[in-house]
Amino acid sequence: MDFALTKEQELIRKLSAQFAETELEPLAAEIDDTHVFPMDSFKKMAALGFTGIGVPKEYGGVGGGSMDEVIAVEEFAKKCMASAATLSIHLITPHILTALGTEAQKKKYLPRLTKGGEVAAFALTEPGAGSDAAGVKTTAVYDADTNSYILNGTKCFITGGSRASVLIVFAMTAPEKGTRGISAFIVEKDFPGFSVGKIENKMGLRGSETAELIFEDCRVPAENVVGKLGQGFKIAMQALDSARIGTGAQGLGIAEGAIDLSVKYMNKRVQFGKPIAALQGLQWYIADMATKTEAAKWMVYHAAYLHDIGKPFSMEAAMCKLNAAENARFVTNLALQIHGGYGYMHDYPLERMYRDAKITEIYEGTSEIHKVVISRAILGK
Ligand SMILES: Cc1cc2nc3c(=O)[nH]c(=O)nc-3n(C[C@H](O)[C@H](O)[C@H](O)COP(=O)(O)OP(=O)(O)OC[C@H]3O[C@@H](n4cnc5c(N)ncnc54)[C@H](O)[C@@H]3O)c2cc1C
Repeated sequence: MDFALTKEQELIRKLSAQFAETELEPLAAEIDDTHVFPMDSFKKMAALGFTGIGVPKEYGGVGGGSMDEVIAVEEFAKKCMASAATLSIHLITPHILTALGTEAQKKKYLPRLTKGGEVAAFALTEPGAGSDAAGVKTTAVYDADTNSYILNGTKCFITGGSRASVLIVFAMTAPEKGTRGISAFIVEKDFPGFSVGKIENKMGLRGSETAELIFEDCRVPAENVVGKLGQGFKIAMQALDSARIGTGAQGLGIAEGAIDLSVKYMNKRVQFGKPIAALQGLQWYIADMATKTEAAKWMVYHAAYLHDIGKPFSMEAAMCKLNAAENARFVTNLALQIHGGYGYMHDYPLERMYRDAKITEIYEGTSEIHKVVISRAILGK
């Protein structure tokens, strides 16, 4: 097992850290307050190649794999979790198209979603289909006259859904076949019958817009089916397997960011005539935070490594996400505690990080669902 970063990956780390510090951190509090997705910084991410990670150069990407994505997302999350989530969730769609798109789909959509700076969204969840993603009720009915599918239904909680120009939408083409009746479609925002509904007012991750999407007789050309008809559920589950490593990287990065802030604060804040870094109770907090975060790091890197060398990684991806998410909550909670009353104030970044960290236990599958995935893999059930 060799986790040593390549020269290119060291460069990605440096570039990501610089970008996070100069472009993302200064905006983090503002986008949390305004609840507005920062389109300008997304376009800058695209110009630097971040939105093309894992996509071949011939389609506008920069190549690379899961580890490259982990490094970028980890560095972004240290400074601005909403931006890290934006990148991580955007990448799901270009990765699906790279793996399963037809040549025509790749040529048409990938350059737009990579260097083109257009946002993508992955639309699976519905009001009645969350953890039970197989419960999708959105329908897609074939219309032979126009050789297209007509989509009807509502998706909810879709990251970037209000900003996306290209979306992968999962809909039932054969309800009698259960999960084998779900298919994946590429929908463009301008397709007639597609509209954006409510934009959610969230506890955290407020700089990443989360939207309801409405399909009313939305016409999608048959050439926009991704993979084969009926493969949608499999496509969604495989995409989530990979995406969970990215969510693990979000949890890892925000924990590292919270530790950095805590160390600085402990050395600066004086109580009882000395910096609070001298207090053993708080030193032990830091030791616990750093130890658990180190463990989370190697689990995330290991899952990315397995993914990149083509070995099975589904269970390890679920484990790394579950662990990094729980650790993100644990670490941001103690980091806020270390900051005392100041940590509770909106002027300090900790209260935002504490709110932001929580999402990692919910999206891309809840922690409970991850335990289902892991225990099934171990027990063979
Ligand atoms: C900010 C945000 C962004 C999101 N972005 C996207 C996106 O881009 N695309 C997308 O498709 N979806 C997205 N989601 C949806 C997200 O993936 C779902 O919210 C999540 O999968 C949980 O579904 P649910 O909210 O319906 O909860 P439910 O499934 O109703 O779960 C409720 C509770 O029951 C538990 N539970 C459910 N089933 C089991 C079980 N079998 N065993 C044990 N416990 C169980 C859950 O863990 C949870 O605690 C997003 C959600 C949020 C909040």
